[in-house]
Amino acid sequence: MTMSISRRNFIAAGTGATLIGAAAIGAPADAKAPVDPPRGTRVLMRGARVLTQDPAIGDFPVGDVLIEGERIAAVGASLEAGEGTTVVDARGMIVIPGFVDTHRHLWQGVLRHALPDGTLEQYFQRIIGEVRPRLEPEDVYIGNLLSALGALHAGVTTVLDWSHAGNSPAHSDAALEGLRESGIRAIYAFGTGHRGPAHAWPKDLLRLRREQIPADDGLVTLALAAGLDPADWALAREAAVPITSHVNGTGTLLPLAEHMGPDNTYIHCCRLTPEEWRLIADTGGGVSIAGPVEMQMGHGVPPFQAALDHRVPLGLGNDVETSVSGEFFGQMRMALALQRMLLHERARRGERDLPPLMTVREVLSIATLGGARVNHLAGRTGSLTPGKQADLVVLDPGTINVLPLNDPRGAVVQSMDTANVRHVFVAGRARKWNGRLVKVDEARLRRLAESSRDRLLAAREAGTPAT
Ligand SMILES: [Zn+2]
Repeated sequence: MTMSISRRNFIAAGTGATLIGAAAIGAPADAKAPVDPPRGTRVLMRGARVLTQDPAIGDFPVGDVLIEGERIAAVGASLEAGEGTTVVDARGMIVIPGFVDTHRHLWQGVLRHALPDGTLEQYFQRIIGEVRPRLEPEDVYIGNLLSALGALHAGVTTVLDWSHAGNSPAHSDAALEGLRESGIRAIYAFGTGHRGPAHAWPKDLLRLRREQIPADDGLVTLALAAGLDPADWALAREAAVPITSHVNGTGTLLPLAEHMGPDNTYIHCCRLTPEEWRLIADTGGGVSIAGPVEMQMGHGVPPFQAALDHRVPLGLGNDVETSVSGEFFGQMRMALALQRMLLHERARRGERDLPPLMTVREVLSIATLGGARVNHLAGRTGSLTPGKQADLVVLDPGTINVLPLNDPRGAVVQSMDTANVRHVFVAGRARKWNGRLVKVDEARLRRLAESSRDRLLAAREAGTPAT
């Protein structure tokens, strides 16, 4: 605890000093960002290094991003500001699309690092078996709000909420309330919960579709978090929403071949057979890998290579904050190190004609556009493409942990962390500005989170049986 507090103070001090430091290493003195986020519907990010993640557009060593309302209007060098435009001086900064998380159980926000050494078996026993039955709707609300705000703080602008806290319709509505209040782009994947008297999964999907999320063009869209059951998949298709499923076994997809489609996302996939990989590829489904969780909790070896070999849409997911961090920089580093380690080992064993080593370019693409593909949102987010939603992150490479800037992707993937996330925009609105979340009552958040945590974990520690 002492360590984390002193580290936070050190980073905060470093961030404040960065502006002065930036001037000292050549950035103009007026590069200091204003205290308040830009207002108005036309905002021009000027003079940044822009990594669009759109192969057709490429990068700009010095470029501008023009936001109009919710969308990216233009990306290029020396764009005209035009009448009524708020210009943000982004010289010396790096702009990327926001990270896209393809699988996270946001209701566990208040249970962060409650199971730091846990295995998958212990997680099922303690979190799902003991804590989940105790959830009240307000616990789901605050867990979702906290986890979503933590994601935004770290530059994650889209998250698929795999919400297996559907103990009742009120729990679902509370999950949605937390997501909406946070301002993050979210796919609410309605999942099962504790099977008490008010449990209404999966049929309540139809009510959610009708009353809560009737369209697919809002900031929050709908999916079904399902098992490997064709009847549940059929319900999702009746509601015209995508399907996201954990796949932890071997051979479990084989009986589902005729039901698999491009609206399916398969999570983990650590132990699939080659035939199952071919089925996913042939039917157009996407794969979500939660590398740190899979390695730490025992799911298996994260299947980056198989996903790359089969050219399936591939995204990263945090999964559970009960055991791992909710930020994406570490996710990217882990993916890169693991894929390369396994290939180096194969080479040492004498194997020839190996696939290429993963690069920082590739892993940054997986963390952004890849995630958007897996979440069925690549038409709207995942790259800085004109016409897409303005979901973007402004990163500061001038901090003491990153400078001097030599390779921008290298800086983002290998050197940065949440302290480098200066500004975050979702659908054209600043959700984090100058290192701080915008319009978030942190005292209220802390109070609600701690009282929810006390209720959920104190009960568990007292040995209260699941009801
Ligand atoms: Zn999961």
